[in-house]
Amino acid sequence: MSDRPVVPEKIVVCPQCKGDSIYAPRNPYRPFCSERCKNLDLGAWASESFRVPAPEQFADDAGSPTLQ
Ligand SMILES: [Zn+2]
Repeated sequence: MSDRPVVPEKIVVCPQCKGDSIYAPRNPYRPFCSERCKNLDLGAWASESFRVPAPEQFADDAGSPTLQ
C-alpha cells in the first residue's frame, strides 16, 4: 500500500521543439521536454554570447597623411 500523494503532472509546451513537455520534478530539463532540447537552447544562447566581433582592419596608409 502506498499513501504517497499523486502529484498531477503539468504538461507545457517545450520552447525548443514545441512538443509536450512534462513540467514536473521528474523532468530535470523542464520547461524543455528533454536534455537534447535544453542543450539546443543553451547552445544557441552560448553561441550568441560568445560571438566575438571581427577586429577592425586597420587601413594601412602607405602615404603620410597630409592636411590640405
Ligand atoms: Zn523539446
